[in-house]
Amino acid sequence: MLNLEPPKKFRPLVGQAHQVAMNLLRPNSRRYDLLEHEYPKELDMLAAMVDGLSESGAAGGAGASGVRAESSEPAAGEPDRGSTTRNGSNLASVLSIMEMCWGDVGLLLSMPRQGLGNSAIAAVANDEQHKRFAGVWASMAITEPGTGSDSANISTTARLDGDDYVLNGEKIFVTAGDRSDAVVVWATLDKSLGRAAIKSFVVPKGTPGMTVERLERKLGIRASDTATIRFQDCRVPKENLLGSPDIDVKQGFAGAMATFDSTRPLVAAMAVGCARAALELTRALLEEAGVDIDYDRPTLTQSAAASTYLQMEADWEAAYLLTLQAAWMADNRKPNSLEASMAKAKAGRACNDITLRCVELAGSVGYSEHELLEKWARDSKILDIFEGTQQIQQLIVARRLLGKSSAELR
Ligand SMILES: Cc1cc2nc3c(=O)[nH]c(=O)nc-3n(C[C@H](O)[C@H](O)[C@H](O)COP(=O)(O)OP(=O)(O)OC[C@H]3O[C@@H](n4cnc5c(N)ncnc54)[C@H](O)[C@@H]3O)c2cc1C
Repeated sequence: MLNLEPPKKFRPLVGQAHQVAMNLLRPNSRRYDLLEHEYPKELDMLAAMVDGLSESGAAGGAGASGVRAESSEPAAGEPDRGSTTRNGSNLASVLSIMEMCWGDVGLLLSMPRQGLGNSAIAAVANDEQHKRFAGVWASMAITEPGTGSDSANISTTARLDGDDYVLNGEKIFVTAGDRSDAVVVWATLDKSLGRAAIKSFVVPKGTPGMTVERLERKLGIRASDTATIRFQDCRVPKENLLGSPDIDVKQGFAGAMATFDSTRPLVAAMAVGCARAALELTRALLEEAGVDIDYDRPTLTQSAAASTYLQMEADWEAAYLLTLQAAWMADNRKPNSLEASMAKAKAGRACNDITLRCVELAGSVGYSEHELLEKWARDSKILDIFEGTQQIQQLIVARRLLGKSSAELR
């Protein structure tokens, strides 16, 4: 049987992440929501601290960049207890992200060197690339004006010319696309060869031919910049192609999709953290209003508010456990595509439902800007959209369970 309790060795990490969330992220949450597009300079200090912890090995994976393909190796000094007992940096990352997003999702997404592109590098880069791109803050650019959920359909091209790839195309909705040091860009080597020809390329900021065209104004996560980026005859050294340059039609999309197995549990963790913030505040508000929440009595015998609250907690717990499971499987090198999508689907939906119902339960207090409940409801929506929408996750789960290909079930 799986024991999904967070392991003891991660308690200090979770405690530290919580302190940061409480003392740095939460107090700046409203400020950077209102100051959309302004860089949260407080995060530089935090990033330096995370770098220090990473260098000392104490971070154990403190953000998105903590997820590494080699993470199932036992830590220095830790015995190799076999493949069923390892708790590595994937689990550490989701646990710390949950805490940080209890503080603020938009600020977590703005943490230097903790971008989703860093996870892409970690998931598919070779050893030389791991070293070369260490310490780089990388965003991830898949979405295009004509391509969202159908990411196999991207039109940005990469043409080999001498020792360089030449990129042409437009990417939209790139989280941290303006602030990051580099963008991991998905492009096709040959559109006629279909999804197998899609590769990812690290394009450093300032590369001629790469232009940030504009930033989006958004419903939520306003502390995070969301950029449109154009690539026009943009040359990158051929060594910046992540993974193998070979087009393996049999392997299809598997290489590129491996990134999602790492990043979906992270987004699920963001949802779990944001939902917990809403639950905790709602509970305090309900108690203040004299609502008694009793775990020993059937919900039907309690007030509607208490019963709703208990149902939300149960929903949250399911999302939490699925997220831990998906990360734990990655740590143990077990194929986790199904579980990563299940976690993302459940946590995204639960977070949307919970944050909005918390606004409802708290009434005018929930809807006003006096509390952060209305903000969490706005922030939560994106967690059910990016890295694959709710519907796409359900489609993937259905395909995996029924043994159908993407051509058979679309
Ligand atoms: C704030 C923000 C940040 C983002 N950050 C990034 C980023 O960093 N990098 C990046 O590459 N992208 C990013 N995105 C883009 C995001 O990943 C896409 O918006 C998402 O993949 C959905 O694509 P779409 O918007 O084109 O919607 P569409 O794919 O057009 O989908 C529209 C609706 O149709 C549904 N749908 C689509 N196909 C199916 C199907 N086969 N069956 C059933 N329903 C279906 C979808 O679930 C959705 O509800 C971001 C978006 C936002 C809003």
